[in-house]
Amino acid sequence: MKDVPGTPPHEQLMVGITRLGQALRISSYRNAGPHRLSPLQADIIVLLAGDLRPRRLSDLAVSLASTPPTISDAVKTLTSKGLVERRRDTTDARAASLTLTPAGKAEAERLAQLPTEFAEAMSSLAPEDLAAMLRGMSSMIRSLQGQRAIPVTRMCSTCSHFRPQAHPGSDKPHHCAFVDNAFDDGELRLECPDHQAP
Ligand code: SF4
Repeated sequence: MKDVPGTPPHEQLMVGITRLGQALRISSYRNAGPHRLSPLQADIIVLLAGDLRPRRLSDLAVSLASTPPTISDAVKTLTSKGLVERRRDTTDARAASLTLTPAGKAEAERLAQLPTEFAEAMSSLAPEDLAAMLRGMSSMIRSLQGQRAIPVTRMCSTCSHFRPQAHPGSDKPHHCAFVDNAFDDGELRLECPDHQAP
């Protein structure tokens, strides 16, 4: 596809996205913590700390774009580390429901901290640049989801409560019908517990 004149070359944007992905991977390995978590194990803990319902292996596999056997192996390791436990699923006797142990919850709190190198990099950006990044990321993720290139996440642009540009010309042009509040690009959510699929 040809770049539109006046816009940054797409291949340079891809270089930037790749570099950020590398930084994230390096950060994830550095942040393995006392339980020496792999990036996948850390992702599972973060998901189980959220409001994922129900908490089954198959749901984790879909959310993490992985396979049930891969997730099953990672969960076994997390169980042996005392961070996750399996309970009988109250809605399906054949399925197991996964929950974090107290040690798992402590790991989730540690993982919720923004890595210092990313916090420093973000603090050097102007609010309008951060808002533009959020808007661009939201649009790209929506497009990638539409092409089935990544799992669907619960973000504003795919939410039935979202009213984009409901207040044209205002500082807060968008509207969330769930909380009945206007908001701007800097407040777009890429993961929201109140998301509702259309
Ligand atoms: S409910 Fe959440 S995802 Fe939906 S529009 Fe409101 S803030 Fe966005």
